[in-house]
Amino acid sequence: MRKVFILSLLLMLFVCSSEASKHTTVQDVRYFSYKSHTRVVVDIDGHIDFTKNRLANPDRIFFDIKNCYLSKKMKSSLDVKDKIINNVRFSQFNKGTVRVVIDLKNSKDFSAYLLENPYRLVVDVYAGDAKGILPEPREVIKIPEKKFLNNIRTVVIDPGHGGKDPGAVGLKGLKEKDITLSVGKKLGKMLKAKHGMKVIYTRTKDRFVPLNKRTQLANSKKADLFISIHTNASRKRSARGIETYFLNWTNENQAMKVAARENGIPLSKMKKQQGGLKMILQDLARSNKKEEAMKLAYNVQNAMVKDLKRNYRGIKDHGVKFALFYVLVGAEMPSILVEISFISNREEEKRLANNKYRDRVAAAIAKGIKSYISESTLIVQPVGKSASEG
Ligand SMILES: [Zn+2]
Repeated sequence: MRKVFILSLLLMLFVCSSEASKHTTVQDVRYFSYKSHTRVVVDIDGHIDFTKNRLANPDRIFFDIKNCYLSKKMKSSLDVKDKIINNVRFSQFNKGTVRVVIDLKNSKDFSAYLLENPYRLVVDVYAGDAKGILPEPREVIKIPEKKFLNNIRTVVIDPGHGGKDPGAVGLKGLKEKDITLSVGKKLGKMLKAKHGMKVIYTRTKDRFVPLNKRTQLANSKKADLFISIHTNASRKRSARGIETYFLNWTNENQAMKVAARENGIPLSKMKKQQGGLKMILQDLARSNKKEEAMKLAYNVQNAMVKDLKRNYRGIKDHGVKFALFYVLVGAEMPSILVEISFISNREEEKRLANNKYRDRVAAAIAKGIKSYISESTLIVQPVGKSASEG
């Protein structure tokens, strides 16, 4: 009898301790700014329970995530400063509770929900002046991993330049067209093998393909995403870093310079050309492709910066930008252009020449595409509303 008691006590202890060690960890906090709302995403490595609350003076909402710890590599806050929220703070509130506080600037309402694959807490904070677009209860559905790839199946990978057009050339003579082809092929292989996607390349060899033909191919194949890969260049040799673009009107000089170079036209012509873009952009706005492209751009940019920082020093995050890129004009699917590094920078040229670096760049882009897909296809709007808001 006594033996049985001790045995069961031991068993209880074992169960308790193994239970207690099964805590989850907050891995990252990200945000996305939209016109109507700001989305804050808390990445966690397992299922969680949370409570939420809103307090005034200053206006803020907070979440307590139970049985959870903050990853050691995390900072304690995230500066947002858009028109809806100021910043997001997170801390180990007490043993086993992570508190996430969102300091509000101008918001009436918010919604919070959990998603899986990967696990994350998503908080949509709606603008204070957002009339008629206040959140309706969203139905969150669980879809097995394989299924989300059913909606977004075909990706067009567009390695920039080729043939008679070498693109930018580095100090040591490295050509953009060779790097974009190498990274593009690596990315395609990963998307096929790891994510079961269908991949179409605008080129698989060193050959010239006109910019408009690249988009036309994507449209004719009814592709779901279009990813154009480039390396950046600047007269300023110290310029370095990563930036991701989507198509939009801009008056930012730096973005226009990049677009002019990629379009193969002088900056002066670039500035004039923008005027004629209105129609295309109105269509973009109507069809909501701009918002999707922006989300895709953020996912890819964030994945690249985060992953490359793990292995390399001096990775500079120039963020998501927009400009008139010919190769993106007329694309009927969300499309982005990634400037993976500066080939004009001595150190980054050296990295681009390295196979391992190109592997890592491709893997990070693939990861960003995947996180975009899982974010876009898991939320279903109530019947009768368009599912455009993702
Ligand atoms: Zn280029």
